[in-house]
Amino acid sequence: MTDLSHLKADFPVLSNGVHFLDSGASSQKPISVLEAMDDFARTSYANVHRGAYKLSVAATDAYEAARERVASFIGASDSGEVIFTRGATTALNMVAFGWGLEHLGPGDRILTTEIEHHANLVPWQMVAKRTGATLDHVPMTDDFRLDLGAYDEKLGPDVRVVAVTGMSNVLGVMPPIRSISDRAHEIGARVVVDAAQLVPHSPVAVATLGADFVAFSSHKMLGPTGIGVLWGRMEALEEMEPFEGGGEMISDVTLQDATWAAIPHRFEAGTPPIIEAVGLHAAIDYLDSIGMEKVLEHDRELTGIALDRLGDVPGLNIQGPTTLEDRGGVISMTLDGVHAHDLATILDEEGVAVRSGHHCAKPLMRRLGVAATARASFYVYNTEEDVDALVGGLRRAGDLFGVGG
Ligand code: PMP
Repeated sequence: MTDLSHLKADFPVLSNGVHFLDSGASSQKPISVLEAMDDFARTSYANVHRGAYKLSVAATDAYEAARERVASFIGASDSGEVIFTRGATTALNMVAFGWGLEHLGPGDRILTTEIEHHANLVPWQMVAKRTGATLDHVPMTDDFRLDLGAYDEKLGPDVRVVAVTGMSNVLGVMPPIRSISDRAHEIGARVVVDAAQLVPHSPVAVATLGADFVAFSSHKMLGPTGIGVLWGRMEALEEMEPFEGGGEMISDVTLQDATWAAIPHRFEAGTPPIIEAVGLHAAIDYLDSIGMEKVLEHDRELTGIALDRLGDVPGLNIQGPTTLEDRGGVISMTLDGVHAHDLATILDEEGVAVRSGHHCAKPLMRRLGVAATARASFYVYNTEEDVDALVGGLRRAGDLFGVGG
């Protein structure tokens, strides 16, 4: 067992003893991240890319150092391929609107999946409506995986873009992005990966992943809210138009027209999230000090223990694979006859924080035949005791509602 229990002390919020099992929604922040942001704000803060004065140069250096750090973390060969956004949602909208409006039209097909978060679905619906392109989706199999046979059948020369999750925030499954990308590239489609759950929990090297665009958020990987990343292969970024116009993204402006700055600045209109970039940098340093292989292994070990113990809870249904194959540390559950919100409320009384609801994946809820699930998600600071508290809480909820009794 990978013992990371010593890390808990680095997370001030956890000092009150809460069993925090909602990192899939947003993770806690270690002291090093809070201190890096505080220190930067106290000593080196100014707007970036604007001033000739020393403070602004220092702030610009810190902001650009964060870009370099993200690039090295995801194995990008060129830090210019890293665009800072407000979060994964903005990054995905940037591709849908910046790339999609330019390259899609009637007769084109957008292929997404039944297991997507709304963030990689709704922007494509909006762009489909505007461009006349059609939407299609890869279904889920009965064992909660993407139906890769159906994917192959659906791929055709009219498919221009494949939008797929790197890890489902409901099922925990990690689709095989490399082979999905390779097959899409054979027919000339671009591949957009929603890596909001993948990058925080698994080593990712964008070159190996094979996709054209990869989106993720800082707040799910120990960093602050308000900043995320769009990584794009340079040739794919060059096909994209800016999604927002304004300061800092231009080369020249007349009253009638404007030309764009170089990539990545072209895609970062206005004042960027500067303090947040410093926080993300520190978060990556923290994750790297553990090692992403270990982060993945730890998540999987806890998931394995949880799946094993949850299997004995009367009336409990796991909405996702019950084996560890190609799966991360997210477990969605329903308890017979008990609404997910009631379940989460009872667990809260036991000091266990889980999410309940549709998890921004309503089409997937429909496919699963449920209105909502309760979801436990693990991260570096979780321990076997957290799993035991979850299992104990679920048993008590079952007793309270007379499930299986
Ligand atoms: N995709 C997935 C799979 C997610 O879990 C989330 C966050 N719930 C998002 C996208 C959106 O991320 P954000 O809210 O940080 O933009």
